[in-house]
Amino acid sequence: MEIKDLRVNGQRLQESMGRMAEIGATPGGGVHRLTLSDEDKAARDLFVGWLNEIDLDVTVDEMGNIFGRRAGKSNGLPPVMAGSHVDSQPSGGRFDGILGVMGALEVLRTLHENSVVTRRPIVITDWTNEEGSRFAPAMVASGVWAGALNIDWAYNRTDVNGNRFEDELIRIGYKGPASCAAWPVHCYYEYHIEQGPILEREGKLIGAPKGIVCLHWYDVFLEGEANQVGPTPMEGRHDALCAAAEMILAVNELPERMGGNLVATVGEIRTHPNSRNIIPDRVHFTVDIRSWDDDHALNAWNSARGNFEEIAARRGCPIKIEETWRVQHSPFDEKLVQRILDIAGYLGYPNLHMVSGAGHDASYMNQVCPTAMIFVPSIRGRSHVEVENTRWEDCEAGANVLLHAVMQSAEEE
Ligand SMILES: [Zn+2]
Repeated sequence: MEIKDLRVNGQRLQESMGRMAEIGATPGGGVHRLTLSDEDKAARDLFVGWLNEIDLDVTVDEMGNIFGRRAGKSNGLPPVMAGSHVDSQPSGGRFDGILGVMGALEVLRTLHENSVVTRRPIVITDWTNEEGSRFAPAMVASGVWAGALNIDWAYNRTDVNGNRFEDELIRIGYKGPASCAAWPVHCYYEYHIEQGPILEREGKLIGAPKGIVCLHWYDVFLEGEANQVGPTPMEGRHDALCAAAEMILAVNELPERMGGNLVATVGEIRTHPNSRNIIPDRVHFTVDIRSWDDDHALNAWNSARGNFEEIAARRGCPIKIEETWRVQHSPFDEKLVQRILDIAGYLGYPNLHMVSGAGHDASYMNQVCPTAMIFVPSIRGRSHVEVENTRWEDCEAGANVLLHAVMQSAEEE
């Protein structure tokens, strides 16, 4: 058989995805596999076992990133890398992240069973804590690996119960000996579900994003004055939750007011003491702003911030704002993006040049080496929810694109 006729085994990919979906399975058909939890450990153990079955050289670094290296003919050359993440959102879906890891595994299994030896080595990766929902921020371990984030800072991140990141990494047995620092990589591919409705709407099967939008995260803390709700008149109240309510709507109205490519969301809120008969005196909420244009996102934030300060002053609720995290928009390598479109075309898959609205480990990898992503459709554009779904034949198609992209890159001088 000629190399160009090589295809992945879609049935085997589906079975591997099925096995992974059992770990942390939720009643609604999703998965709950938070980073560094027992479920994350079980998924990692299963993954590492599969890497060993096809004779990969497995290493774990001090951030818990797992690498499986497949030797090539010229092992002094930087490898081609492909991967994603096995952790999930709370009650998240069965495809987010894991498809990119199982897809890359399926590529390596296909090469293994066909005894294909590439010029360059190939490395498959599971990045720790892509989701950032248990320990903020997201993509923290690829960020440390790429040199963009500090490891001690990452180690000291805590979850809502006060557990430290490093302690949990040790607890599940995945604080590895390898140092978490980038080595030379020829290029990086990340295969992922789209997590939006564009491919489905356009009737396309494969998406090749030209890059990832910028991502700005903020934390807002408001103080009010607690009091018994019955005897306290409405005038003169300092209700921190009402101040937050106005601010949340200001965030929601931001994209329409500012125009251009922009989305803005408040997704998390905590109120204290959270009692029906006490005026709320402490509120914390988050703001997420994304755009293809970094300056536009910053201008939008500055506008929102102005609104917040006005609302806080008017309601007599002191405000504290933390600028938690900013990642610039990340244009991918044009040559690799074109390669993905070309391969999709060659394989007969309708394809689309687009933008990724979600952050991925690929955005940090893009700082280290030429990077590109492969998207397949999310049914009804739903993601980070239990009903997240992608057709199995689409999963297989994306893995075939990954297979040929990896093989082409791995033959390069
Ligand atoms: Zn993901």
